[in-house]
Amino acid sequence: MRVLLVEDHPPLAEAVRDALRRSGFTVDHVSTAQGAREMAAITDYALVLLDLGLPDGDGLRLLPVLQDGGRVPVIVLTARDQLADRLAGLDGGADDYVVKPVEMPELVARCRAVLRRPGDRSHTTLRIGTLSLDTAARSVAAHDVSVPLGRREVAVLEQLMRSAGRVVSRRVLEEAIYGFDDEVSPNALDAAVSRLRRGLEAVGCPLPIVTVRGVGWMLPREDAS
Ligand code: CA
Repeated sequence: MRVLLVEDHPPLAEAVRDALRRSGFTVDHVSTAQGAREMAAITDYALVLLDLGLPDGDGLRLLPVLQDGGRVPVIVLTARDQLADRLAGLDGGADDYVVKPVEMPELVARCRAVLRRPGDRSHTTLRIGTLSLDTAARSVAAHDVSVPLGRREVAVLEQLMRSAGRVVSRRVLEEAIYGFDDEVSPNALDAAVSRLRRGLEAVGCPLPIVTVRGVGWMLPREDAS
């Protein structure tokens, strides 16, 4: 699940990014309002974390753009005094507010809570045959048995399940695993696919991940068992 983090304080941005990644999110980080506008225009985010005090403007002015007609939940990250100053004028625009300093477990929990809200299109359980993937909990089960997978493997599987029956390109899968600003080692995706295959085989999942050489990977639409 892809998250946009808009935060200009480097140590905090790094801490938030690390915490979200450890919890299975893919994180794109920008430090300016302009950067946030650009990324939101070209990328479909499940959630945005928005700092209010940005070097090139007030984060609040970005809210309507980032929320995209209420489609994308936004959690505002703000210093305590900013919050006191501004809450009255906010009119409840954001989906949640987190006051700095931020406890990372709480922030991650709030992200999950916002993503779980009813009507949110991003909380879905994907199913093919006996294989299921909860996109909010980032958990996978086969024959109702939990499959222990790392966040990259879950991200790869999510893309393959969403596009079952079609080939998913290397570029799409790499983008699903990494943020735009990440260095991607050439073998990282192949390694993730291998771990995913092993993880599914270990629980007896009959779905093969088909390699289409030079193009990408594909999951069949139907469970053959
Ligand atoms: Ca700031």
